Amino acid sequence: MRIVPEALIAGLVSPEDAFAAVEAVFAAMARGDAYNFPVVREALGEGRQYGFKSGLDRAGASLGVKAGGYFPGNAARGMINHQSSVFLFDPESGRPLAIVGGNLLTALRTAAASAISIDRLARADAKVLGIVGAGHQAGFQLRAAARVRRFDRVIAWNLHPEMLPKLGAIAAELGLPFEAVDLPRMIGADVIITITSSPAFSLALAHVSAGVHLACMGTDTVGKQEVEPALVAAASVFTDEVAQSVTIGEAQHAVGSGLITAASIVPLGDVVIGKHPGRRSADEITLFDGTGVGLQDLAVAGVAVARAAERGLGTVLDV
Ligand code: NAD
Repeated sequence: MRIVPEALIAGLVSPEDAFAAVEAVFAAMARGDAYNFPVVREALGEGRQYGFKSGLDRAGASLGVKAGGYFPGNAARGMINHQSSVFLFDPESGRPLAIVGGNLLTALRTAAASAISIDRLARADAKVLGIVGAGHQAGFQLRAAARVRRFDRVIAWNLHPEMLPKLGAIAAELGLPFEAVDLPRMIGADVIITITSSPAFSLALAHVSAGVHLACMGTDTVGKQEVEPALVAAASVFTDEVAQSVTIGEAQHAVGSGLITAASIVPLGDVVIGKHPGRRSADEITLFDGTGVGLQDLAVAGVAVARAAERGLGTVLDV
């Protein structure tokens, strides 16, 4: 068994690797070669969440689990709020293969998922990127989005405006003008990424224009919400996994209030393998409900372990 600690991940897995690995696993899910096991998620009190995301990918020969959660007090102690580790097993024998630091991998695979949705669903001529949220994940989202469309500026809103300059610095690094705006100004965005831990929606139908693509990435638990249900109902909804979308994703609210049905939600993998055409017109609102599936974690952890093995990195233990 190989241990690949958090500190090695940045040198082993690039955003491009994450994009390719996550796209391949979405395709495997759409073909029925890979599936996620039910998510376990428990509230530990004081806003802490802990759980397990796991799955089996027969095509990619991976089996495993990500254990971890969200610990909102961490930022004040100089740590990121998400803490996780990925455990990989041999799908044939069940033997443990690897323990991999999961923090950077989570950010990379989450940003990859929204970038894949932008790549596949946003209008080709998208110029203005809107971001709702400015926490740890937001910068990864911005960088990944900038790889798939030639944006010419970024507009952003955050409940806590003092967090926005950090995101602005990343936009500057990418050569993109950055402006902090009120939510109604999101009407000028061609693509909007939402990446907050909000318990109630901020972005409303009245805040967006026809033809926008939304990547809703923050809602990954019962009770979180970023987008008005009427906006979800006005959109063509895509997701990483329908079962998660309707239970822990953004669609939980629109489905729960009867505005849309689970049957109307399309796995993004169907678009990747050509089973669904994706966007059908320039005026269509498309919305990706990115809930974060265990198979994404296993896919990027698999890349990390393969690279570490090639380079003789990490610690190998006999277990
Ligand atoms: P963070 O704690 O670093 O930042 C939280 C963000 O939410 C900040 O922008 C903050 O201002 C905002 N926020 C907090 N309370 C709010 C409220 N009441 N209304 C509106 N905004 C509010 O968190 P992060 O690591 O950036 O993660 C953001 C979200 O993304 C979390 O909900 C996290 O669970 C989720 N997430 C999802 C996936 C996925 O695969 N879908 C993966 C990782 C994280």
